Amino acid sequence: MKKTRTTNKSNNKEFAVITYGFLGLFIAMCVYFAYFLTFGAEDFINNPYNARVSKFSEDVIRGDVLSSDGQVLATTQVAADGTEVRSYPYGRVVAHAVGYNSNGKAGVELDGNFNMLRSHSFALTRLVNDFTGAKDQGDSVVTTLDAGMQQAAYNAFGNYRGAVVAIEPSTGKILTLMSKPDFDPGSISANWEALNSDSDSSVLLNRATQGLYPPGSTFKILTALEYLNEGKKTSDSFDCNGTYTENGYTIHCYGNTAHGHEDLTQAFSKSCNVAFSQAGLALDLNKYHNLAENMLFNKELPTKLSNVKKSSFDLKKGADPVLVMQTAIGQGDTLVTPLHMAMIAAAIDNDGIVMEPYMIDKVVNDNGDLVRPFFGDTYGAIISSDDAKKLRKLMRAVVTDGTASALLSDDYKAYGKTGSAEYTSDKNATHSWFVGFAKKDGKEVAVAVILEGAGSGSSHAVPVARSMFDAYFSH
Ligand SMILES: [Zn+2]
Repeated sequence: MKKTRTTNKSNNKEFAVITYGFLGLFIAMCVYFAYFLTFGAEDFINNPYNARVSKFSEDVIRGDVLSSDGQVLATTQVAADGTEVRSYPYGRVVAHAVGYNSNGKAGVELDGNFNMLRSHSFALTRLVNDFTGAKDQGDSVVTTLDAGMQQAAYNAFGNYRGAVVAIEPSTGKILTLMSKPDFDPGSISANWEALNSDSDSSVLLNRATQGLYPPGSTFKILTALEYLNEGKKTSDSFDCNGTYTENGYTIHCYGNTAHGHEDLTQAFSKSCNVAFSQAGLALDLNKYHNLAENMLFNKELPTKLSNVKKSSFDLKKGADPVLVMQTAIGQGDTLVTPLHMAMIAAAIDNDGIVMEPYMIDKVVNDNGDLVRPFFGDTYGAIISSDDAKKLRKLMRAVVTDGTASALLSDDYKAYGKTGSAEYTSDKNATHSWFVGFAKKDGKEVAVAVILEGAGSGSSHAVPVARSMFDAYFSH
């Protein structure tokens, strides 16, 4: 009797081990399956080299790409014989932002690929489709893009090469993302060879996220902040007669303009290179370097966008004074992407906090019902709220009393910094920059604009920014 009980006990134990073993295995499989559906499947389907993707498109008509206000930016038209054609009603205007879906993928067509190849149509409709062999309608990706503002930027930009980025500072939503030269996303297959052989203008390069430019005078934002953080004052005075020579190298103000006697705020608002090269020589270069890295130079930018380039800042203690002077006015070896400059402007508006830029706002089904929302993540502070306040004061002076006075408006309050960045030894050949933001009644938007080889910031980039602010605050 006693023995039997022992046997039963050990049988029970074996049974329990097997049961729990299978249960554990089952739970592990469930967890893996849930993980795959949530995260893994997205990478799996988004991988452009994955042959299984074609299987998804056999069952689902690729969903649309929409602007934040419901404008159709990309759609799939199905002919009577079942042939599908991807079309882009806004064409070149949103080319780099929306991207393309043949000969590889880019833009939202890449980042939203998974969502557009899945269907959350009405269940009964899908059941009927299963029986009749018809395809399901894929979900649509609703972007953060403001179609009106994008169009305004495109119209104001003209035929220059360059880029434009607009971000909502409190959320990180990308409202405008434009790069020129552009292409017609609908005919990319037909023009593929020509687009790729054109190495000179590199049409397919998204300059907003991958273009590396000298920041020019927009970098005075960082130089001014470091200068003030080292205990110096905005009331410190400078004298400018248009040029400044040190160590055998001469710094010129734009057009050799003599700015005369001025304080730091005036030197910033008029963009005086003489004052800022002198301010640069007074800096602790290691602290200057740290400030630049805190502001995301030499770092991967925190964003959900694919293929974003890193900006670079090399200056360190012991550097040649000539390089110090050049760097302080945004020349030298410093390189920056327009997206990065827009993020800096957004952070200054947002009390120093960077919200990670993103372009896919939500996924909806063919009836417009929400399938999945996305939100901006907080990266954190890149400068203190006090620093942001100091910079807002300087950047407001640029509009009220300086090189961006064309942004004075009764409809909103604008802030910013212009730049004319030299990119060859020819001092007259400059990229035209504007970096800044505008606000009204709690609505805020930050922008970065660069037109390659166009001239001064005030002559070309400021008018583009103006058209964007006007479009944004008009609705
Ligand atoms: Zn000057």
